[in-house]
Amino acid sequence: MESREERTYVVTGAASGIGAATVSALAAAGARVCAADLAWADGPAFDDGVERVVLDVADPVGWSALAERISARGAPVRLEGLVNAAGITRRARLDDATSDDFEQAFAVNATGPALGIQALAPLMPQGSSIVNVGSAAGVMAHYGIAYGASKWALRGITKTAAMELGPRGIRVNLVSPGFIETPMTASAPGEFREVNLESTPLGRAGRAEEVASVILQLLSPDASFVTGAEVAVDGGLTGHGGGLPVARAMGSAHPRD
Ligand code: NAP
Repeated sequence: MESREERTYVVTGAASGIGAATVSALAAAGARVCAADLAWADGPAFDDGVERVVLDVADPVGWSALAERISARGAPVRLEGLVNAAGITRRARLDDATSDDFEQAFAVNATGPALGIQALAPLMPQGSSIVNVGSAAGVMAHYGIAYGASKWALRGITKTAAMELGPRGIRVNLVSPGFIETPMTASAPGEFREVNLESTPLGRAGRAEEVASVILQLLSPDASFVTGAEVAVDGGLTGHGGGLPVARAMGSAHPRD
């Protein structure tokens, strides 16, 4: 069996929500994890094998320093994966959004993952895997215009990276969460939660662990021929494409129930 030292993963946004759940799941699976976030003051407790680092994903210098730190360890360390989970929301509507809203949302949610891929892919051997955390807001109209647009951009970055890194045997995929209970959604207006749950066929919010488990599958060799793909982890929110209210208006699909 391989030691922790041999399988290393970098996870951003690791102090909270989906990133933290991903770190815990990887550590529980026996991997070594470099958990990166802006700050660690009140961060979660993790198992052995998790190293906390401070990183602003929007800062290319920070990414270079992290790459140097990882490569300085030398063999037998193998960087087998990167999970770009750091993200910020910007909720201003079309009428009010400022250029700062766009700049900040794009810097963290789109440029950040691209910089991370640029810095760390050179350390990754054939068979490695990168997972970007997009959003349901990146496949449909979203009330927070800058956030939604940045997540649409991340889909393009994912597909381009998958094309560029495919010949090196590195896979790049995207997971698109719907409404997940995390500190990010806890700060949303109550109506946002209510309407999202009403629009979700499974009728409930998702848990960060439910997103993490899909991320782990995409990281694993079980997904060895999957790249450039997008996996919705949204309880059916985006799949019905507006069909749900229509179906409801037409009554039960199982009239004899
Ligand atoms: P979260 O609980 O707010 O976690 C995000 C983490 O990223 C926080 O620890 C945050 O630090 C960190 N972060 C923010 N800016 C950063 C930067 N520049 N560099 C490094 N770390 C940074 O949010 P979450 O819900 O887990 O979200 C994780 C990802 O899923 C995000 O990309 C989000 O857009 C996406 N997503 C979430 C949902 C959902 O329903 N929760 C749905 C769709 C997509 P601070 O707390 O200090 O800002």
